[in-house]
Amino acid sequence: MAPKDTQVFVALLKRDKETCKHFHQVSSHEKATVFIAEYEALKPPVWQTIKDEIAKSKALFFLVGPEMVEAKKKGGAEWSCINGLIGYVSGQAVAENLDVWVICDNKVTPNFTVPYINNYSLGIETKPNGYEAKILRSYGEGARFEFGYSPARRFFCPNKLCGGKYNLHNVLQKGDQIVCPMCLRVLSFPNGWQLQQP
Ligand SMILES: [Zn+2]
Repeated sequence: MAPKDTQVFVALLKRDKETCKHFHQVSSHEKATVFIAEYEALKPPVWQTIKDEIAKSKALFFLVGPEMVEAKKKGGAEWSCINGLIGYVSGQAVAENLDVWVICDNKVTPNFTVPYINNYSLGIETKPNGYEAKILRSYGEGARFEFGYSPARRFFCPNKLCGGKYNLHNVLQKGDQIVCPMCLRVLSFPNGWQLQQP
């Protein structure tokens, strides 16, 4: 099976072609196998495809691109379907004890919730050896990104009704605001985040 024996499951909207391209630029130089699950184009029966591929994977990445944000705004039957898939994929990942990531494409803010995550990152570094490339490589080397793997990244959502806790991977400047992907609460960082990190 070596060397491509580590699979990650990537869920995204097929219409988010740029976001998919960004992730492909990241993953194409890495050894991990990437299972791309496009919500609109999964092989039927969809529940079985998801169950089988999650079982083979080490981590789940929800990619959030601009078309995904538009799909939520538009709502309707398509969004109901996507929303159901997000819940089902998350549930399978939790049952298999996978890391669950939300990764937003550059300058995209989530406007829908994901029920469980343990890693959150804003922006995709497409340059060689960028941040996401290193993460994929780490999975290939057997690493895990459990909550609190790095004390400096350990974040607790202040919304008591959310209870989210996840590794927050970005460096934020004083006064920056981001949105919690589990509850959509606006999170303020008057003192910044990870400013002391290299
Ligand atoms: Zn939250």
